[in-house]
Amino acid sequence: MADLPCRQVVEVITSYLEGSLGWRERRRFEKHLRGCDACSRYLEQMRATLDVLGTVPVDTLSPEAQSTLLEAFRDLRH
Ligand SMILES: [Zn+2]
Repeated sequence: MADLPCRQVVEVITSYLEGSLGWRERRRFEKHLRGCDACSRYLEQMRATLDVLGTVPVDTLSPEAQSTLLEAFRDLRH
């Protein structure tokens, strides 16, 4: 099973936090987090933000993360 690239972790992070990720993806996600400080920190940030606001404040994210997240949200609405 190939490791998830960081970009894909960012794409599925909202699904992960919503608990809508399949167990297979979830395992790959958590495996990646164990070996990647950047994504671990990102997940903690997202989780804390969701706890406080109940939503992801897109305009506080970096332009890269923003466009990646917007793509993910667009997919979710379909
Ligand atoms: Zn990563």
